[in-house]
Amino acid sequence: MKEKITLLQKEIEEKLKEVKNLDTLNELKVKYLSKKGPVSELTNSLRDLSIEEKKEFGKLITDFRNDIFSKVEALKEKYELEELNKKLENEKVDISMPGLDIESGSPSFVEKVIDDASDFFISLGYDIYEGPEIELDKYNFEMLNLPKDHPARDAQDTYYLKDEDLLLRSQTSPVQVRVMLDGKGETPIRMICPGKTYRREDINATHEQEFTQIEGLVIDKNISLSDLKGTFDAFVKHTFGETTEARFRPSYYPFTEPSVEMDMSCIYCDGSGCNMCKPKGWITIAGGGMVHPNVLRMCGYDPDKWQGFAFGMAGERIAMLKYNMTDMRTMHENDLRETKNFDRKEVK
Ligand SMILES: [Zn+2]
Repeated sequence: MKEKITLLQKEIEEKLKEVKNLDTLNELKVKYLSKKGPVSELTNSLRDLSIEEKKEFGKLITDFRNDIFSKVEALKEKYELEELNKKLENEKVDISMPGLDIESGSPSFVEKVIDDASDFFISLGYDIYEGPEIELDKYNFEMLNLPKDHPARDAQDTYYLKDEDLLLRSQTSPVQVRVMLDGKGETPIRMICPGKTYRREDINATHEQEFTQIEGLVIDKNISLSDLKGTFDAFVKHTFGETTEARFRPSYYPFTEPSVEMDMSCIYCDGSGCNMCKPKGWITIAGGGMVHPNVLRMCGYDPDKWQGFAFGMAGERIAMLKYNMTDMRTMHENDLRETKNFDRKEVK
């Protein structure tokens, strides 16, 4: 029996020397240490021995078993650590490598124009307002002096919803109506309301069905058309450069009286005439005038006490001029060559 133990011990020790990794260690475990392996067999054979023999060999076999198992366990730990280190080595990140180039977005040209205009008007003490894009006919037209039968109200241009009292706002002026109604006659009001508007237009280089308006309204005492002129003049100088001039031409809008077309001197030819100004030397970028007494009255302001001016312009039009673009559609298409064109020169 003793010889048997010594032989098996020797055999296993030899095999342990040949173990190179976890796989060969496992093979050894299966071969010698499984339930039906020679070590178990040896342990089981104790049963057939006499009490005397059990005493003699019991401790020997237990010591042998413990010795083998602890050696296998030590090797197992050694090779597991080796594998882990190997894995960590392979997965090591070289932090000195340059990172992947992540493409960053940028505001659209219209957003830039809105941000810039907002900054300008905020610096003059204006507040910025927003309103719903689905609007009541009452706010989009009626309270702006455009009753249902008014000839200037062209239903062909407006997107009505199923409920004919609702429409996609064709201008941002209803935001002004909402602010005046909320103000309940309180003054002064100084506001702009940039936002999306919708009209049934034939889409071409200068017309879109969805476009952006930047409208403004001031209500206070002793407001006159020259206040609007001064404000507009400062705006074009801020936006297009100090040498830009402003001029007004008489016009007609139902919600203002008197009404004006608001022109700026051509930034492309400095007034001498070119393709952009066709070739008048002036470019119309806004419309406005003094708030019509009917509008003031309907919105809760006594026109004998209060005056106001209002103006509106298209964000896309300003962006096209400022960034020298010839086709408005570019701004709504997802052509990254255009929208990522960081180098597009500002005309100023
Ligand atoms: Zn010109």
